[in-house]
Amino acid sequence: MYKTPDLLSPLDTGVAGRVRKPLMRRFADADAMIAALQPSYPVYCLRPHVLADNARRFIEGFPGRVMYAVKCNPLPAVLHHLHEAGIEHFDTASLPEIALVREALPDAAAYFMHPVKSRAALLSAAEVYDVRHYVIDHAEELAKILKAVERRDIAILVRLSTPGGKALYELSRKFGAAPAEAAELLRAVHAAGLETGLAFHVGSQCGEPAAWRTALDLAAQVIDAAGVPIRYLDVGGGFPATYANHPVPPLEDFFAAIRNGLDGMPLGPDCIVMCEPGRALVADAMSLVVQVQLRKGNALYINDGIYHSMSEPAVAGVQLPARLIRQGGGFAPAIADFTIYGPTCDSTDVLPHTIPLPADAGEGDWIEFGQVGAYSNAMSTRFNGFTSETFVSVDAPAFLP
Ligand SMILES: *Cc1c(COP(=O)(O)O)cnc(C)c1O
Repeated sequence: MYKTPDLLSPLDTGVAGRVRKPLMRRFADADAMIAALQPSYPVYCLRPHVLADNARRFIEGFPGRVMYAVKCNPLPAVLHHLHEAGIEHFDTASLPEIALVREALPDAAAYFMHPVKSRAALLSAAEVYDVRHYVIDHAEELAKILKAVERRDIAILVRLSTPGGKALYELSRKFGAAPAEAAELLRAVHAAGLETGLAFHVGSQCGEPAAWRTALDLAAQVIDAAGVPIRYLDVGGGFPATYANHPVPPLEDFFAAIRNGLDGMPLGPDCIVMCEPGRALVADAMSLVVQVQLRKGNALYINDGIYHSMSEPAVAGVQLPARLIRQGGGFAPAIADFTIYGPTCDSTDVLPHTIPLPADAGEGDWIEFGQVGAYSNAMSTRFNGFTSETFVSVDAPAFLP
């Protein structure tokens, strides 16, 4: 059995399809979970108290409305805990994400922030799920929305392409209108009688507070050029998490840069400033426990990999903190660097960095990886029959580098 029968699937949402209270076994830490379950399958250890702390830090520090970007970790329990901590707005990009938010948290708002949407998704979003906020980066998309959606009590935000900063993922090539085009689109939205907004995304895992300042200066020029009232200004996501090979300034530096950028902007008193963090809200709120299935020399074969929870370490090269857990302890004092292979038959299923662990690590030992709350379970496939779908909650502090 891949999943122990006494653990509930994260998709078991309880009464009437609603996430009332996440049904998850709770342990003091990963060690206690291992003592109880002896898992031969990967186990995600969610830290609800860390989610709550992160949500509070954003709500208190960010000068505006905080939306959670659902794609980063759509686990119903994550949505539930963030909502409990005061997050009432959710950035969604597809109809299933919208349905997830609106059915799990009926009093929360979903925003349809994908610049390219099908007509069917637009119709269902507006009519079934009462979505009032949409993003465009092209005139054809505006025309499509005006045709597919009958109601006019909606807001349309124009996604602006920005130079971005030192980010691991650049997000302004695929989406975003150039400044002159964005000003034109804002005028068209206003002329259609809809509320207007301007949005950008400086790129994911952006370590440079000045990137927001630069983007806000550009946004100010666009707003000036458009000459129409701006109801929403959305500074996107991209706030970074800490990885061993990617040290970043504290979140408060990013909030300060945004405050500075907002100071001189031509915004009316009823303009709502928003942000859409994904990673920074959830990255340190989850760790992953895997088991070593075989050792060959200094290579360890484990039960999770790049097609499951660890595509980010492979694609972006982020280095996760790791520690060996053995029942009864007693490791060799020496440390060795191990190559870590995932469970599939694909030879690319290997972590790009070696991981330092006690030199006698071997079959049956467990490894806890920290900082896997973002883009892990969200991107896991079922390739080769392997899945990572067991979640527990732990009271332990975040496992940081
Ligand atoms: C992915 C994405 C986010 C979240 O980005 P993070 O880097 O995880 O904060 C926010 N907004 C949009 C439009 C996105 O595509």
